[in-house]
Amino acid sequence: MNKKKLLTLIPAVNDFLKSEKGIDLIDKYSRQQFLNSLREELNEIREKILSTDFNLENFDKNKLKMNFIIDKIKLNLETEKNQALNKLINASGVIIHTNLGRSILAESAANKVFEVAKNYSNLEYDLEKAERGSRYKRLNSLVKDLTGAEAAVVVNNNAAAVMLILSTLAQDKEVIIARGEMVEIGGSFRIPEVMENSGAILREVGTTNKVYLDDYLNAINENTAAIIKVNTSNYQVCGFTHEVKAAEIVEAAHQKKVPVISDLGSGIIYDLTEYGLPTESTVKAEVEAGVDLLCFSGDKILGGPQAGIIVGREKYIEKIATNPLLRALRVDKMTIAALEETLKLYYNFSNALKEIPTLKSLVENSAEIKTRAEHLKNIISNDYANKLKIKIIETQAKIGGGAYPLTNFASYGLEFEFKEDIIEEFNAKLRQLKQPVIARIQANKLIFDLKTVKNSQLEALAAAIITTLNEVF
Ligand SMILES: *Cc1c(COP(=O)(O)O)cnc(C)c1O
Repeated sequence: MNKKKLLTLIPAVNDFLKSEKGIDLIDKYSRQQFLNSLREELNEIREKILSTDFNLENFDKNKLKMNFIIDKIKLNLETEKNQALNKLINASGVIIHTNLGRSILAESAANKVFEVAKNYSNLEYDLEKAERGSRYKRLNSLVKDLTGAEAAVVVNNNAAAVMLILSTLAQDKEVIIARGEMVEIGGSFRIPEVMENSGAILREVGTTNKVYLDDYLNAINENTAAIIKVNTSNYQVCGFTHEVKAAEIVEAAHQKKVPVISDLGSGIIYDLTEYGLPTESTVKAEVEAGVDLLCFSGDKILGGPQAGIIVGREKYIEKIATNPLLRALRVDKMTIAALEETLKLYYNFSNALKEIPTLKSLVENSAEIKTRAEHLKNIISNDYANKLKIKIIETQAKIGGGAYPLTNFASYGLEFEFKEDIIEEFNAKLRQLKQPVIARIQANKLIFDLKTVKNSQLEALAAAIITTLNEVF
């Protein structure tokens, strides 16, 4: 038999369409999806046969049988279905993980989203005056309360906030920035590129490791629109370094009538030093220090939905609010619902620490995490003791998402040490579950960090692990 003959053994598309399994799959996924998947599969088979390194002798002809091919299509369609946005279990130990959806919402915030999504609302309707109202009004007064700023405006995310600020204040003008603060956030998102896209001209000062107040002041000229400080939220320059805080720049900059902008990245509302976190200036403190415009994310430490929150002096916020770009960057009603409810929780901070999952996780002590690790270990009865070792270990969880970049959080995890070389396979299977599980591999061991796993997820996590164990052994 030659290759050509082999190709003729592949069943015709029509036969697949008429087969019992084919009809079932079409019923479940639509004819279009079935055909797409089928054609892809058949093309792959043909290409394989026609490739130069194809070994005709060793080829198993059963792989060309209709049943074999259709089972593969079924599997492909099932996993494709899984590629929609799905909830998952984060056992990575990274609290604010951009790839995993950053902060999860407080119960009251999530409920409000649900309510507003299913009903009409007063999004832009003034109920007192029975006329058009502002979608930002209520939100702004909450933000102003919590930050002490004169005014506020909220947009889609913090990148949009930076862009909108610069496009309003610095179109074709210079913005002074320290070289040590030219941040890349991830996903090839670079602050300098965002700034340039807004129409501002970057005026870099200082060196990678050192910048002084005079560097900023000497760079001011008649074309200077602002000085911007960007929080180095995902790295730290240490060693032989010098930086200037926004608050230190303010007075001298104002004498020269240059506003100071600060991209805080995460932006914390309350000081968390009493919970063992390093000192970071709060939004309120920066506002009090006289910084003119500040922006931060809604879904980082704040613990709310994706949003970019801009606060600052009324005269600048007013300009921003009338920039037509705001219309393109405006937040939708579900974001507003979630953000309003999250911010309301901040009025009682001890309540916020209990209700907002991101904050709760930040301040949770490791003894509670250890209890979860023990509980998980107890549910997973190890029937595979000869193939694997399971033990509770101390771990270092991280916050991720742009704040406290060097801070580790004492945590506990369940460590799996496989006696065979199947760790990657096991981990891959966990990711392909209906409710995927994201663990981490460290020194050839698989670790489920319990910092980011809720009590209510322990049973599901255990079930996922047991199912996967049964599959690989
Ligand atoms: C995270 C971050 C951003 C981007 O915020 P998004 O809300 O993701 O758009 C911008 N600047 C800094 C300093 C950040 O840490």
